[in-house]
Amino acid sequence: MVGLRRISLYNTLTRKVEPVQPVVPGELRYYTCGPTVYNFAHIGNLRTFLFQDLLKRVFTGSGYRVRHCMNITDVEDKIIRDSQMELPAEADNAARHAAMRALTDRFTAAFFQDLAAVGVEASSFAHLPRATDYVPQMIDLIRTLEGRGLAYTREGSVYYRIAGFPDYGRLARLDREGMQAGASVDSDEYERESVSDFVLWKAARPGEPSWDSPWGPGRPGWHIECSAMGLDLLGDRIDLHSGGVDLVFPHHENEIAQSEGCLGHPWVNHWVHGEFLLVEGEKMSKSLGNFFTLRDLVDRGHEPMAFRYAILSNHYRKLLNFSLEGLRAAKASLERVRAFRRRMEGTGEAAGGPWKEAFEPQPRIDLAREAFWAALADDLNTPEALASLFKLIGDLNALDDHVPLTREERDSALAFLDEAQAVFLGWPRESAQAEAEVEALIEARRRAKAERNWAEADRLRDQVQAMGILLEDRKDGSTGWRRA
Ligand code: AMP
Ligand code: ZN
Repeated sequence: MVGLRRISLYNTLTRKVEPVQPVVPGELRYYTCGPTVYNFAHIGNLRTFLFQDLLKRVFTGSGYRVRHCMNITDVEDKIIRDSQMELPAEADNAARHAAMRALTDRFTAAFFQDLAAVGVEASSFAHLPRATDYVPQMIDLIRTLEGRGLAYTREGSVYYRIAGFPDYGRLARLDREGMQAGASVDSDEYERESVSDFVLWKAARPGEPSWDSPWGPGRPGWHIECSAMGLDLLGDRIDLHSGGVDLVFPHHENEIAQSEGCLGHPWVNHWVHGEFLLVEGEKMSKSLGNFFTLRDLVDRGHEPMAFRYAILSNHYRKLLNFSLEGLRAAKASLERVRAFRRRMEGTGEAAGGPWKEAFEPQPRIDLAREAFWAALADDLNTPEALASLFKLIGDLNALDDHVPLTREERDSALAFLDEAQAVFLGWPRESAQAEAEVEALIEARRRAKAERNWAEADRLRDQVQAMGILLEDRKDGSTGWRRA
């Protein structure tokens, strides 16, 4: 069973690798900015969602309970643009909402299909809120900001007054001199050069779906969505918040200004950002012909899991130059792991003797496992974690060629492989929680047997087996287990 492992991550706020210390020990409150669902996710988006899945698995595999919230951005400039194009000018508000919903439903479903294909399970999220279900909370938040003098209205739109928040620019390290207090931007996305008061609520324009509000009909700005959902679902002290690097400014800077402006105290302890994916050295774009979705890769015969592996074998804070060549190499590594698993699942003859002892398979497995987790706990160093796994695979293959490993040694290698594959290949139910559950049932069964309560012991055995676990009673009275 795993105790709580200490995990360090690079914190964009401090520009340092720092230990993550959850407010409630052992429980990680984690918020992730989700997709804007107006099209299929591209492989750059998926890189970011995969790094976040890895992060979560490193925490669960290290004994933490993770409360992960990821929103679905289902109202935003681009969504409105794409969903309203075909509606007649006279369409009413209900029809406009319905058109927006039809588009976002379609791409939300596609998004979860893609996630599942790359081993990110919807069930691993504690909350998956849609922005449009939180409009009342957004309105409340904006009213609080107004009450604190941090928001003002102009022509039915509401803007955040950055001059009223002295900390503005801390995350992105903006030069406060260059800020244009009083000037305002209406668009959700803008560059550093145009730092200015940003929009919280946009007055309805003709041809747009809208909600009623104290400021008249309108719709929320993008940034207020995440503050409202994060505060509502995870509360006013969040341990970790992540996204791709492009979100540092303005999105996350604005989230901080909104949430902390409202709370009056720090909101998120650790801000973690994943680097971008480039394709053949360039930013993906449809005009360059280097734009890929997961579906494009699958159509070309590539396996989604090889994609997951190709992404995760690179460190999340380094630019990743994606290529089909690299994807093929990832597939080859993956096959090596799978071949090793089949070999360990097979039987080898028990062999011993002095020659065998000199190789000491068990300590090697223990060391590799320790090195694997230590690397991941050190700012998700996946290349180093995989290096220790592959070194072990090489060593055990070589040894097994000469003197077959015992069943126990094979099982021990398989147990480590289970953990490694859970992290890298997204196996379900890998977590320390599941492991702890099995151990607890085995212990209860041992006690039942000691009390000669055979009926109870059998019942517990059935319960463990129903979880897909094979038990193995050993001669020394202990019980081993592995996944069926
Ligand atoms: P979006 O759906 O545009 O809101 O983006 C979803 C996530 O993908 C965000 O966390 C972005 O930071 C991230 N993202 C967008 N483009 C890339 C890219 N080329 N590489 C890595 N992450 C990206
Ligand atoms: Zn967000």
